[in-house]
Amino acid sequence: MTHTLNKLKASNLDSIRQQLEQHLQERLDTLSQLLPCPLPSVDPVGYQTMASNRLVVEQINAALNRLDAGTYGRCTRCGGQIAPARLEVLPHAAACIECQSHADAA
Ligand SMILES: [Zn+2]
Repeated sequence: MTHTLNKLKASNLDSIRQQLEQHLQERLDTLSQLLPCPLPSVDPVGYQTMASNRLVVEQINAALNRLDAGTYGRCTRCGGQIAPARLEVLPHAAACIECQSHADAA
C-alpha cells in the first residue's frame, strides 16, 4: 500500500465506487430509454441528452479505472489533489477546479 490516497480512506473509496456504479447504471438506463438513437435533426433535445449521458458514462468509467489504478482523487491534468468537497459533488471529476475552469474558459 502506498500513501498516494492519504486524504481518501479505503472505506471512502468503497462508498465512492458504489456511488459511481449507481450513477453509471442510472446513465445507462437513461441511454437505453432513448434507443433507437435520436437524430439531431428530428429530436435535438433527445440527441443532446444522449450525447451528454454518453460523455458522463465515459467519465464515470474513467473514474472507476482511476479507482482501480489507485490514482482516484488526483487531477488528471496537473496531478494535484482534487478537493474532497468537489469529489462529493462530482465523484467522477477528472480535474481539479482550477484546471477545469481553464478548460471551461477555453
Ligand atoms: Zn489540476
